[in-house]
Amino acid sequence: MKPFKQYKAIFFDWDGTAVLSRKAAPDPVIAPMKALLKKNIPLVIISGTTYDNIAGGKLENYFSADELQNLFLGLGRGAFNYRYDDGGAPVIWEEVIPNKDALLKIHRVCFEIHQTLLKEYDIRTDIVFSRPNYCKIDLMVDNDRGDRLFLQGGEIETLKRLLKVHGVGGGLRELIKISDTISEAHGLKLSATCDAKFLEVGLSDKSDNVDATLAMLERERGIKPEDCSFWGDEYIGVDEGLFGSDSFMITEKSKRGDFFDVSDTTGERPPGVARVGNGIEAFHDFLRGQAH
Ligand SMILES: [Mg+2]
Repeated sequence: MKPFKQYKAIFFDWDGTAVLSRKAAPDPVIAPMKALLKKNIPLVIISGTTYDNIAGGKLENYFSADELQNLFLGLGRGAFNYRYDDGGAPVIWEEVIPNKDALLKIHRVCFEIHQTLLKEYDIRTDIVFSRPNYCKIDLMVDNDRGDRLFLQGGEIETLKRLLKVHGVGGGLRELIKISDTISEAHGLKLSATCDAKFLEVGLSDKSDNVDATLAMLERERGIKPEDCSFWGDEYIGVDEGLFGSDSFMITEKSKRGDFFDVSDTTGERPPGVARVGNGIEAFHDFLRGQAH
């Protein structure tokens, strides 16, 4: 692989890219991050999770107020964008939160997806309604993975089998299509994503975090998408023609940037994503290289 060019901003996934897991201490990634933040290189964490799940909700404690001026987070599946105020406290600077009527419409769509799956395919589901701008539809209600929020070995295969047995021949892709059709019938354009156990349907996804932050960086600092790199460990699809959650960082706006995958898995990646492999170590090495 040829040496990396010098980037003006770096976007990256947290779990599996910056840290081994959200439960792991963030210490190994802190020093390389600090070196770049000191040099006024913006770092942008893009994750589907909440602020509380990044470094135990205490990320600001690892950096000085000056360093924090260059740190940004796009979280909650597009719902929230964070930066830090002068004192170093996290503030939401942009959000995608529906009013109650709009939220109830999303709930109706998800309830109808549940009904369709039960009526047409005899698939039982549970719905989590309490998320800020989306619902989680649990597709494997008899398969509790407890606190293990990562994809578990075999889970995708289990879901694919379940879909096939119930006559959803097109697998996860067909599931997304069912969801899109119902959204459109309600006059809504919702984003549906699937990580095996959960079908998530809502107003935004990681693309919205990326686009909002890119626009802000261009506005405030003159940084262009082609000067940015985007790092993740889940670009590979969970089913044919369907890419992983980090592929949502690729947008019309961001696609002029460079995309890197630290996972060693073989499989089809979205066009333009370079496989680096070697997990979080590769990402830390990259950050160290950028600080010189
Ligand atoms: Mg990840």
